[in-house]
Amino acid sequence: MSSTAVQNCRSAVKAQQESRETPLRDIDPDSLVIQLSGHLKSIPLPETLRFGDVCTDHMLEIDYDPATGWSVPVIKPYASISLDPACSIFHYTPALFEGMKAYLGPSGKPLLFRPELNMKRMAASTARLALPAFNTAALLILIKKLVVIDKRWIPSLPGYSLYIRPTLIGTRPSLGVAPSSHAKLFVILSPTGPYFPSGFKPISLYAEYDAVRSWPGGTGAYKLGINYTPCFQPQAEASKRGYQQLLWILGEDRHITEVGQMNFFIVVERSDGDFDVVTPPLDGTILPGVTRASVIALGSLLFSDPALQRYALALKGKRLRMREESITMSRLRSLSKSGELVEAFGASTAAIIAPIGRIGYEEADILLPVHEEGLGPVAGTFYRTLIAIQEGKVDWEGWSVSCE
Ligand SMILES: *Cc1c(COP(=O)(O)O)cnc(C)c1O
Repeated sequence: MSSTAVQNCRSAVKAQQESRETPLRDIDPDSLVIQLSGHLKSIPLPETLRFGDVCTDHMLEIDYDPATGWSVPVIKPYASISLDPACSIFHYTPALFEGMKAYLGPSGKPLLFRPELNMKRMAASTARLALPAFNTAALLILIKKLVVIDKRWIPSLPGYSLYIRPTLIGTRPSLGVAPSSHAKLFVILSPTGPYFPSGFKPISLYAEYDAVRSWPGGTGAYKLGINYTPCFQPQAEASKRGYQQLLWILGEDRHITEVGQMNFFIVVERSDGDFDVVTPPLDGTILPGVTRASVIALGSLLFSDPALQRYALALKGKRLRMREESITMSRLRSLSKSGELVEAFGASTAAIIAPIGRIGYEEADILLPVHEEGLGPVAGTFYRTLIAIQEGKVDWEGWSVSCE
């Protein structure tokens, strides 16, 4: 053999060894390809926006192939996705998502609220569906880039923001019942207005215990698409009865899990004059909301921190005792009868804080106290504090992160 032949042979062996040893590629923000749209859409007037109806000019897309790993990330003009009809997403529905918001900060930079918590939850959902894992810090870098590119879509009105929808679907092109070896990760953006555009209007709930949203050992603690479709029919029934959303009940003791797609809180007046703020514990049937975690963290600090005190004036010096404990329907009804129940509210990224006005249960309504401007002292305090942090008006614990 000539020396070049030997060398060729050696390099072939080396290449083979390398390809065997090369780990599958993870998401790499440095290799991002940006294809800007040549036809920018016209942005609808903020007042006409309906949640989720309009998406921005661009999207982020990354594919996973079991032979090579995660593809080069691409930010490209918003477009349809074409998939093989045998793909697992259409049959066994491996799909998960996140919901985040970008707010326009005082300096004009888009701000994200505690996005690392969304990334952590997305990783948990990914593992639960046996979809390929990825570097969530890398995804967050790419999400920030996408938000900056479509920044002109963030309405510069208070209460408005850009809703961010990271999504992961299984795309294994086979009818075999198995974890999806292939996946597609994409992120789309939609401008969104306040949940209550014309002032807070307490919502009505129907306490549902025939159908359940989640159950022990189920998937209620993960943000999976399969958790939502089964809720549409009971939701439609409740609408027919004249209620806006469902209060989800579980178990023989009829304890409350969540409200619609929000975490549930009640406020109870204590004998010492302070307030207990109670939410059900994360027992596996409850979605661990970022807003829920933030309300719990803020509740005990509102008085000790001078930066936050001014948002808590409505509490008139009453302290909040944050408690994670089970709330049964019978406890709720007796707290309402005794007059100890001060407020109930839902908490989520989409609504931030949604006050509750009445709860239909066993052919009767549990009525909650009516508060000025639709929002009780505790719900109002959390709403004002959260919005101030999210819109960058107060800097708190690095919760608000700017997109560069
Ligand atoms: C997303 C969601 C929430 C709220 O979570 P956040 O992180 O606060 O937006 C609560 N419950 C359900 C069922 C959800 O899907």
